[in-house]
Amino acid sequence: MIIDGHAHVYNEKNAEKIVSAFTELHRMEPTASLGQGTVADLVGKMKENGTDYTVLANFGPSRSVEKINEWTLSVAEEYPQLIPLVSVFPGIAVDKVAGWVQKGAKGIKMHNGIQGFAADDPGLEPVYRFCEENRIPITFHCGETSRVHLNEYTETERLTEVVKQYPGIPFVMTHLAAGDPETVFRVAEECPNVIFDTSITMTGERCIYRIHDDFWESDENVVDAFRRIGCRRISFGSDYPFGNPSGDIRRIRRLGLSDSEKELILGGNSYRLYMAQP
Ligand SMILES: [Zn+2]
Repeated sequence: MIIDGHAHVYNEKNAEKIVSAFTELHRMEPTASLGQGTVADLVGKMKENGTDYTVLANFGPSRSVEKINEWTLSVAEEYPQLIPLVSVFPGIAVDKVAGWVQKGAKGIKMHNGIQGFAADDPGLEPVYRFCEENRIPITFHCGETSRVHLNEYTETERLTEVVKQYPGIPFVMTHLAAGDPETVFRVAEECPNVIFDTSITMTGERCIYRIHDDFWESDENVVDAFRRIGCRRISFGSDYPFGNPSGDIRRIRRLGLSDSEKELILGGNSYRLYMAQP
């Protein structure tokens, strides 16, 4: 089973504008490998490359987060192959989050850098407690994989402080934490409740090679690093439309790992996180 643990979609009206704004911010050269960022494009690509499920990690500014969450949930209702996450902001009522979970949300996504609040903001404590009680996974955007320093909110230490405070919450740190090998090894050791997604950092895409740590260009390095971290803690995520799921799947498939290690990375770990009954 293949599960892409990290993608974004936008409504038809805004997709093109948002994708080009992000591409510019992260200095990703637009190439044919970028997706359109629409549901139709994503679902079509999933069919082409054999992806069974894709996790929607949508988020937005506090003033529009609720609308975005409702939209994401409605999209996932229409397309059962899409697994919806919802986003939050400090001070949000836990009842709202609980309501979204009832409607099918499988976890929470925060991009603290773009959303502009710290993960350790006291206004988020009720959300963390709710997630810990219900074992709801939280995905954090991490690091500076694309070498863009937005602000201190996505710095690894700010995030791992929260991760350590809530050992009962399964956290996903995207982009293999900060994107450099030293940080991901350290976090893996310090934080047993974290799994890491491969998005952008370990990619099959040439256009992205320039903006990540060169370490991950070598397949041998990747195999060694994944085994050191543990293949049960690595999940394939593409960051579609900014990453290209097809290229990433191809690269993971040709790594010198065992079939069972590849199965965990390509889908098994995300399955355990979002789809297996507790
Ligand atoms: Zn993303």
